Amino acid sequence: MENAKKQTLCSVVSNVEVMPGVHLMWIEAPNIAGSVLPGQFITVRCGGFTLRRPLSVHQVSSREIALLFKVTGNGTLWLSQRQKRDRIDILGPLGKGFSIEPGAKNLLLLAGGIGIAPLAFLTQYASSRHQMTLIHGASTAAQLYTERCQPTAINYQGVQFITITEDGSIGKKGMATDILPDFLDRADQVYACGPADMYKAMAEMSQRAKQSNLKLRKCQVSLEVRMGCGFGACYGCTINTKKGLKQVCRDGPVFELNDIIWQEVRI
Ligand SMILES: Cc1cc2nc3c(=O)[nH]c(=O)nc-3n(C[C@H](O)[C@H](O)[C@H](O)COP(=O)(O)OP(=O)(O)OC[C@H]3O[C@@H](n4cnc5c(N)ncnc54)[C@H](O)[C@@H]3O)c2cc1C
Repeated sequence: MENAKKQTLCSVVSNVEVMPGVHLMWIEAPNIAGSVLPGQFITVRCGGFTLRRPLSVHQVSSREIALLFKVTGNGTLWLSQRQKRDRIDILGPLGKGFSIEPGAKNLLLLAGGIGIAPLAFLTQYASSRHQMTLIHGASTAAQLYTERCQPTAINYQGVQFITITEDGSIGKKGMATDILPDFLDRADQVYACGPADMYKAMAEMSQRAKQSNLKLRKCQVSLEVRMGCGFGACYGCTINTKKGLKQVCRDGPVFELNDIIWQEVRI
């Protein structure tokens, strides 16, 4: 019954393609907007598909939530075609999001591509109380999510914002993980969202490191594995961790980087 209460039909407020194949959608969802925390997600019923599609909450305002999603298949294609005032069926907020330890001052965020979606919410939530650095890596300038995409939708004010692109079209040339070590000294906690290869590179870096700061002891990552129900009933997203079997949808999607057995994770 708990999930039945969380299920709502919500109106689309706006839907804009902010980068090629990437949509920013604002939805009127006051109950979710008032209770969701960074790193939590919702699931959307997309057209006739039985399985709902999980998407991170990307921003909130007093009555609305924003989603930032990439069109990767038929479900997200259907969602990308919704228009203002269309109603969509949403379930959430779901999962356990990012946590900030008491006493942590400097937070370092690493976003690979569309992984910026939940991390932007973390900056919105925490930047008035913490020093924050956000490293955003993408394949090329057109895939970087900056104020250029939607000036009113994202506010990185007070956040040190570093961009890096694989082709060098903006910022440094390379991968986000290439420059991560340069920023670790000052970080009390690290948060990441991105592709599996980014996490694997971070885990390897952490294992190889001799210096304790590079060991990434306090690093939380959001695991975007394929999900079934999204609320812990079907066990379809179960992974094996150093702390035993965990359901990504209910125990995560946020986990400690070093708790994951990366060789076993299929994303
Ligand atoms: C907790 C969580 C939060 C997420 N947040 C976001 C977000 O904020 N923005 C966003 O763009 N995407 C996010 N995703 C990924 C998103 O759920 C998938 O891209 C989406 O479900 C694909 O549905 P589809 O019907 O369009 O594609 P499908 O036809 O189902 O799949 C098309 C392609 O997408 C890949 N895919 C499917 N599911 C996932 C998945 N869970 N993760 C990665 N790739 C997948 C498939 O391997 C396939 O190649 C999140 C996933 C999870 C688990």
